Amino acid sequence: MVHYSHRHPEASPRLFRRLRIAVLLYVLLFIAAAQFFTARNVTDWDTPLWVDIYGVAGDSDPATREFVDSLSGAEFADAESFLAREASRYGVLLEQPFKFRFIGEHRQALPELDAGAGSVGILWWSLQMRWLATSLRWQADGPSGDIILFAVFHEPTEGLALDRSTALDKGLIAVANLFAHRSARNTNQIVVAHELLHTLRATDKYSWTSNAPLYPDGYAAPDARPLLPQAKAELMAGRIPLDERSAQMPNDLREVVIGPATAREIGWQRR
Ligand SMILES: [Zn+2]
Repeated sequence: MVHYSHRHPEASPRLFRRLRIAVLLYVLLFIAAAQFFTARNVTDWDTPLWVDIYGVAGDSDPATREFVDSLSGAEFADAESFLAREASRYGVLLEQPFKFRFIGEHRQALPELDAGAGSVGILWWSLQMRWLATSLRWQADGPSGDIILFAVFHEPTEGLALDRSTALDKGLIAVANLFAHRSARNTNQIVVAHELLHTLRATDKYSWTSNAPLYPDGYAAPDARPLLPQAKAELMAGRIPLDERSAQMPNDLREVVIGPATAREIGWQRR
């Protein structure tokens, strides 16, 4: 035995390393394949997509706690009917393309993504999120939703990175960072709809450096003359372009539309 291991000192670790890489590749391939087929099926729009919503307290502020305790099943009804309204504009035949279901509070903290996380950190975070979503699906009574949305509420004074969930766009998991205050109810609906469409591979349509809506896909009416100011925002751009330098948040979903580019990405328009 001793003699044998002297002649091949590296054989065992190398084999182990190859095996480990093979297993990792297999797992990643499996996740990728599973998600490829799920994502193709979910945007057929022949049956409604069920969205399971979990409320999460994003901080330990008593006001946040009170707000999360007061959440009801109808909290995001406006976002649900906005999506139905926009789908019918694109000829989707479903009366309700998304069916929201408020499951309750998720009391544990969500896996955290550091602001400076590199690609390995983001991958690790997204695997943790997927694991969490999978275990929630297993625990669900009856059939679980197609999409899981975490509505994370924060006290309104905090500076918030509102749109950080693009790493999950293929996992059918959405994280919406919201404000725990009644006055933010209308803008919370916009964030929920925006983050939800990321799960169906809708892309952001604003500049990552200046936050300005991108022309033409980030404009609600790219053919309008005069072009500026625009009256509405495109959902994935998030803001209403006013002039060359400024854009403002819409007050509510009545000032928001889903543009053709986003509609194509989520399968509402086949061109
Ligand atoms: Zn986004």
